[in-house]
Amino acid sequence: MDAVAKGARRPRSAIGGRLEPLAEVVVSLHRGRSLDVIREVRTIRSHWNGLVRPEAFATAALFAETIDLFCEADLAMPEIYALLTAAVAAVAGSEAPAALVPRFQLRLLHALGLAPADDACVRCGGAFDQHGAWLDLEAGGLGCELCYGVRGDAHALSADDVANFRALGAERGTGAALHGTVRVTRAADDLITWHLGRRPKSRALMHELS
Ligand SMILES: [Zn+2]
Repeated sequence: MDAVAKGARRPRSAIGGRLEPLAEVVVSLHRGRSLDVIREVRTIRSHWNGLVRPEAFATAALFAETIDLFCEADLAMPEIYALLTAAVAAVAGSEAPAALVPRFQLRLLHALGLAPADDACVRCGGAFDQHGAWLDLEAGGLGCELCYGVRGDAHALSADDVANFRALGAERGTGAALHGTVRVTRAADDLITWHLGRRPKSRALMHELS
């Protein structure tokens, strides 16, 4: 949603002090002609101390921007809201925040129903063998060696990568992984870029700061 916080930059503004980036807040709004006006803000959770580190802030900004690009304004998406609040908290408490990006990206794609099929070959339905699998962005899934082996190294995932790919996309609990392998990290990022048609701007900020 978009709203203005009038007078928020004044030193004694009660609103300004509570509108920290990525803080979870309850706001009361006055409906304006084009933009709503914020009248009151109550903080539920703020991880500001954990987020003021450059890498943490860049990572959390990337999460927020990615969700903003995928979601429509004014359309409530509770599952994605929960994903973002958990991800921001994890970033604030992490020693290596950027390492959390691939799991966030794959969990987001799952929540949006855009995650690639990873249980069987997207072309022939066959299982993956010891040679792993290949990510086919256009087909929206992983493919087997028989169908995709000729592609060589392009978007190739080893058997371990395939297991990591599934574990990163899995819900919290048994079998879930927190960190991605090098190739799965690249695959998750490429998936996001492919669905959005471009790279989020905060991606560049992350590379500068981390
Ligand atoms: Zn196949």
